[in-house]
Amino acid sequence: MSLEEYAKKRDFRRTPEPEPSGGEPGASHSGRFFVQRHHASHLHYDFRLELGGTLKSWAVPKGPTLDPAKKPFAALVEDHPLEYGEFEGNIPKGNYGAGSVMLWDKGIFEIIGEEDGLAQIARGDLKFRLHGEKLNGTFAIVFMKSRGKGNEWLLIKKQDADARADWDPEAFAYSILSGRTQDEIAAELPAKSQPKKKVPASTRRRCRGQSRHRFPSFLRRWEPSLQKNYRRVGGGCMRLNGMECGPSPTSATGR
Ligand code: MN
Repeated sequence: MSLEEYAKKRDFRRTPEPEPSGGEPGASHSGRFFVQRHHASHLHYDFRLELGGTLKSWAVPKGPTLDPAKKPFAALVEDHPLEYGEFEGNIPKGNYGAGSVMLWDKGIFEIIGEEDGLAQIARGDLKFRLHGEKLNGTFAIVFMKSRGKGNEWLLIKKQDADARADWDPEAFAYSILSGRTQDEIAAELPAKSQPKKKVPASTRRRCRGQSRHRFPSFLRRWEPSLQKNYRRVGGGCMRLNGMECGPSPTSATGR
């Protein structure tokens, strides 16, 4: 775990970003994931996977997508502390990465394959399945060996039931934490009272079916800390930190 570079770049008296507090090293076969939309000098998305007690982080200029044809470029950046995952707010001018940060998506991931996540990253080809509010399904993040800087990867959506042609992350540019747009975060407007939309009955039925077939099989493999975050809701649906799993209202309508 190396958070030295993260700490060296920041003055925690001058930025509201979290100071590392020494995360617990965890199993690296599953964990939480977070995506932030960060309007720094250039707008980009930060894609973060909880592995080995830190957040492995990539800056993705065009953002993650459910479209397997897009394969967006992802620059590996310094590890971030676990506390960073939930961060939303403004990094003041003059600080590293100054600008507004939106919590764009979060959820959990499972590593695909027997090899653990850190070993797959060391090999330059990590395969995983996301269960988020906006991002779902199987992905790979693949190192481009012959490129210049040595930090260049591609974040690739695999073909599966969650793949969507022409899916554009910018069509979902709202916070899953506060319901705010990037401009509303930058202006420090209050969170919207009800960011979560009501899940239509039809979606709930699909969610029930999915939870029966999908959740029990891999829930067993998660470490207890993750299982604890889950609780059953009506009809066998699962929730993580208040999020409904299974198809989101937006993906259910094919947007
Ligand atoms: Mn960033």
